[in-house]
Amino acid sequence: MSDRTGPLPHLLVIGGGFAGLWATRALAKAPLRITLLDRSNHHLFQPLLYQVATAGLSAPDIAAPLRHILRRQRNVEVRLGEATAIDATRRQATLADGAVLDFDYLLLASGATHAYFGNDHWAAHAPGLKSLDDALDLRRRLLLAFERAEACTDPAERAAWLSFAIVGGGPTGVELAGTLAEIARHTLRDEFRHIDPASARVRLVEAGPRVLASFPEALSEKARRQLERLGVEVSTGVPVTAIDAGGYRLGEDYVAARTVVWAAGVAASPLAHSLGVPLDLAGRVPVEPDLSVARLPHVFVAGDLAAVKRADGSPVPGVAPAAKQMGRHVAAAIRARLRGAVARPFRYRDFGNLATIGRMAAVVDLHGFQLWGLLALWFWLAAHVFFLIGFRNRLVVLLNWAWAYWSYQRAARIILGGAGSGEQRPTRG
Ligand SMILES: Cc1cc2nc3c(=O)[nH]c(=O)nc-3n(C[C@H](O)[C@H](O)[C@H](O)COP(=O)(O)OP(=O)(O)OC[C@H]3O[C@@H](n4cnc5c(N)ncnc54)[C@H](O)[C@@H]3O)c2cc1C
Repeated sequence: MSDRTGPLPHLLVIGGGFAGLWATRALAKAPLRITLLDRSNHHLFQPLLYQVATAGLSAPDIAAPLRHILRRQRNVEVRLGEATAIDATRRQATLADGAVLDFDYLLLASGATHAYFGNDHWAAHAPGLKSLDDALDLRRRLLLAFERAEACTDPAERAAWLSFAIVGGGPTGVELAGTLAEIARHTLRDEFRHIDPASARVRLVEAGPRVLASFPEALSEKARRQLERLGVEVSTGVPVTAIDAGGYRLGEDYVAARTVVWAAGVAASPLAHSLGVPLDLAGRVPVEPDLSVARLPHVFVAGDLAAVKRADGSPVPGVAPAAKQMGRHVAAAIRARLRGAVARPFRYRDFGNLATIGRMAAVVDLHGFQLWGLLALWFWLAAHVFFLIGFRNRLVVLLNWAWAYWSYQRAARIILGGAGSGEQRPTRG
């Protein structure tokens, strides 16, 4: 199937995440035909995924169909499908169903995935959090663990079901651990007859010296203390060296735990390999100042998949604001090309870092201006709700939050798929 036959140049955008969607929207008035290809039918607000995994929000609260978002943008066609290969020279992308899409310009914005640092066999026992499927699978595992413990008569087995470990002390790990501890200590209170959910062991394991390593040290320390107040055991400085169905190994100790969650590493989308250019150690594509690829000027890369350096040589972080800024920059670069002009170099505007710690606290680093505790939580909430796509989502999320805040309850405590076989379901890769 050819897509280069129309009168206007054809831009193929692979990935409807923050980079791809923001680029597409910024090109609404450009003389282009755009195809936005994604293997999911929705745009996902990943920063709130942990809320779906911990039953605070439902899937549609944090995701919206790409077709709906772009319904009024006449120069875009949304296509559901998975790109499996790119031939940048022939200007073609191949899809999993065998279809071939031609393009004049390509924006590759397929993001990142979990990385287990060469231990891919851990994935079955320690699922990561990247998609809505992952979040719903994790929600099921977490809720089922308490059910299994309740039904269990062997004390050791029961303790293993009530032992939870989150590997990785970045924002996602901290957010998951804090929320899980609150669920165990407050949400589930009085609901079980044979176990005390508050006795659950929630452990956050970070191989580096401190949690929230991208924050100033003082805020890391505040986050650690807040986690400990919530009942989270924080282990730093020792890496996990093994994970299996029964638990994990930390240093010399083997810890029995039926639920281990992976929040430690990300690797760039494997699609980058098919560009045929040298990649960095994380598999990301080094780009030129205008975010195009060297010697492939019609190919742009943006978001988590792009290896971009700041003026001081440090890498632009893999965060949503950076992906949006890159997406908008690619749009400007393509518009400049169409006019025969040259785009300005990309410059990342870093507004700071935010992370929540349970229901009552957060840490906010706005470079020189730091907030923590409840005030930081309100700031975090405002920022996240403001950036959600769609009025309905914002309203629902705010109401859910208000309810959770006053009642400790979590609106989406539904176990999908019934009781299952007695084992945790294997996760998707
Ligand atoms: C759990 C979690 C929490 C996070 N929390 C925060 C936070 O609090 N603050 C923050 O700023 N950032 C956060 N991030 C990081 C932020 O979400 C990413 O930096 C951002 O999503 C990157 O945008 P992107 O467009 O590059 O990729 P993504 O948003 O990941 O989008 C990539 C898109 O490409 C599609 N895709 C992938 N491969 C293919 C293929 N082969 N064919 C077709 N489509 C494909 C995917 O379906 C997806 O829609 C978090 C990330 C995660 C996973």
